[in-house]
Order: sequence, then C-alpha cells, then structure tokens
Amino acid sequence: MKDLLASHLEDCSTDRYFCFSIRCEVCGEYWYSSSIPFAKAAQAVQYREKQELYDAIYQREKQRARATAGQEARERFSQCPVCRRLVCDACFLICEEMDLCRECAGRMQEPGEPVAP
Ligand SMILES: [Zn+2]
Ligand SMILES: [Zn+2]
Repeated sequence: MKDLLASHLEDCSTDRYFCFSIRCEVCGEYWYSSSIPFAKAAQAVQYREKQELYDAIYQREKQRARATAGQEARERFSQCPVCRRLVCDACFLICEEMDLCRECAGRMQEPGEPVAP
C-alpha cells in the first residue's frame, strides 16, 4: 500500500512550497496534500551564489514532504481488493463481506456505505 501510494503521488511543488496530489481512480477527483513551505525559499532567492546549497536543501526537504504526504494520503485512500485500484474514501465502501470500491460493489450488487460520504 505504501509503495502503491508513493507511485501515485504526483509532484505539484513549487520553488516556495512542497505539495503532492493523488487522483482517485474511480471518481477522478484530485486530492492535494497539505502544502509544506520550503524553509529556505527567501534565502534561496537572495543568495544566488549559494544556489547549489539551497538546491540540496530543497531536495532533502522535498523527500521529507513526500513522505509526510504519503502518510496523509494513507488516511484518505484505500486499495480496492478486487480491481486493485487506488480509490478515495468517498468511493470506497464498507461492505458486509469485504470493503470494496464503488464500482466493484455496484457490479456485484454488494450494498455498503462509503468510508467518507
Ligand atoms: Zn473517488
Ligand atoms: Zn474495485
């Protein structure tokens, strides 16, 4: 699940902050992680001679931000055990026999309630 999430995280970061998104494979809605500011954004603009240093710090902070976004996404996404797709809580149903995505549940006529309506 962790690897699946990591492979779906899209980088939406800018020079000033880090942000990642994931698209639900059922409804197509994008979810965005809470943006984390780049601590040295102002200095990076001011001290051009230290560009490489700030680039390195940027990359390191981005790695951490990516891990944080992955954690956040784990609370909002699930993998459907049938179609194996990554789906948001609004599309993931708690069913009697096994929790499924909306489409699989519908196909098999399994009634269920979404994790997050
Ligand atoms: Zn969805
Ligand atoms: Zn499914």
